Amino acid sequence: MPHQFITSEKLAGGRIARITLDRAAKRNAQNRGLLLELGEALEEAERDDDVRVVILAANGPIFSAGHDIGTAEFRAEIAPGPGQHPTWQGYGATRSGAEQRMLQEWHFFFRNTRRWRDLRKITIAQVHGSVISAGLMLMWCCDLIVAAEGTVFADVVGTRLGMCGLEYFGHPWEFGPRKAKELLLTGDSIGAAEAASLGMVSKIFPAESLADDTLTFAARVAARPTMAALLIKESVNQAVDCMGFPNALNAAFAMHQLNHAHWAEVTQGAADLGTPEFGVPDWREAGAITPSELTRP
Ligand code: ZN
Repeated sequence: MPHQFITSEKLAGGRIARITLDRAAKRNAQNRGLLLELGEALEEAERDDDVRVVILAANGPIFSAGHDIGTAEFRAEIAPGPGQHPTWQGYGATRSGAEQRMLQEWHFFFRNTRRWRDLRKITIAQVHGSVISAGLMLMWCCDLIVAAEGTVFADVVGTRLGMCGLEYFGHPWEFGPRKAKELLLTGDSIGAAEAASLGMVSKIFPAESLADDTLTFAARVAARPTMAALLIKESVNQAVDCMGFPNALNAAFAMHQLNHAHWAEVTQGAADLGTPEFGVPDWREAGAITPSELTRP
């Protein structure tokens, strides 16, 4: 099926699938259509026994600005009428209040991300530019992350939306507990080198050779026997699961819903995110993201 928001291709004789976010004009903001197409493409790569490694990349200046919460396309997906996305006629969308939000976010932000983390192929996120908020979720559910020089990573939902984090709360596992708190409380970004020192990023490649270098890296991984590769992935993932990752994700998702419900209650249903009236600056007017620097207060 032709896609509108992504492209997908097979490389290296079919052993590597590359899925590319292709909504560059909107900084690869994740609308419903993009997320569903991404899910279809990942599952297609999973179905295909020739494919050993999946690269998740992006066109345009940045990897992803996060969830789409503002474009006309996004509003059209939700609004009743002929343009409404079919997934807004079910999956809890016809319910109301916290139940509606919880079910919609569970299906389209949470369960899908967890599903992709469990893909039966080795996945490599190839990121560049910036990876903001829900952009992190797409990257974190991959097995390996490679970044272009100059890539920055930030979750600004604490500072710009009054939220406690993302629906898929990988933060403490990826940044470490204290760094997770710092980054969420300040909205500051970290660069690729710091991300590598935290163990989040495996490789940093020059921007101009990012795609080629990622393919070379993917080809090395694809050379492993598929059984060993999958069991390496699964051994590590199950170890992390034994440390409590699934339960921590579930608990954080519940808190995320509580946070939304708080804003819906205090704004009397006008918003499910923080507003200027309650001390959260308008995200549309927020300036540049500042880097986390060791000596800057
Ligand atoms: Zn949410």
